[in-house]
Amino acid sequence: TEDILRNTEKLVFAGQIAVGIAHEIRNPLTTVKGMLQLSGKDTRLRHYDLIMSELERMNLIVGEFLILGKPQAVHFRQERCMPILEEVVNLFEIQAALNCISLNFRSEEDHMICCDRNQIKQVFMNILKNAVEAVPFGGAVHILLDTEDAYQRIRFTDNGIGMTDEVLQRIGEPFLTTKAEGNGLGMMIVKRIIEAHKGHLVITSEVDKGTTVDIYLPLDLT
Ligand code: ADP
Ligand code: MG
Repeated sequence: TEDILRNTEKLVFAGQIAVGIAHEIRNPLTTVKGMLQLSGKDTRLRHYDLIMSELERMNLIVGEFLILGKPQAVHFRQERCMPILEEVVNLFEIQAALNCISLNFRSEEDHMICCDRNQIKQVFMNILKNAVEAVPFGGAVHILLDTEDAYQRIRFTDNGIGMTDEVLQRIGEPFLTTKAEGNGLGMMIVKRIIEAHKGHLVITSEVDKGTTVDIYLPLDLT
């Protein structure tokens, strides 16, 4: 037990440092981006787009750490998943096209759920990002909306590299990553948000075959 406690303390401490650094980096980052936007385009700065997209990546990482540290204001409303998913799929279309990945989206049943739109968007983004990162050139990701019992189900299937049982068991632990450029925070955030929505997550995966992530969110029956 003492070991677990010590580990938890360490994690909390590491988390606090991470959030602190993220906070300090955020402002200069915003300044640099703004300046570059102002002057970069017309001076035809070399590699402008690359610099911009790398800055944006830093921004996203910093943002994820900040979310960890701050309890955000939540607004629960009646929503359907389809429009939220469409927004998210749009965000990934370019990346998918560049890698010849087909993104397929089918809605069989899309009922009202009670959710915080931004949080659910974040969930879909993190899961779709993992799926796209897992599939090889020419791979496929399928998204299916349907229901099971009193739950809306959102299913993401990819035919990517899959996960070992060890990773599958530990998924959602902070900083668990098998990627060179991963931060191991995505699934932790996903789990937290789903739990806050009284839903649950079921993941099945096989190495070299692919992964299915099922999100279950309670239907709004009012
Ligand atoms: P990150 O993507 O930054 O590594 P995540 O928390 O999003 O962190 O995911 C943690 C780990 O779970 C990944 O590094 C990867 O090993 C595994 N994983 C998650 N989704 C998938 C997937 N669709 N296919 C294969 N592995 C996955
Ligand atoms: Mg991820």
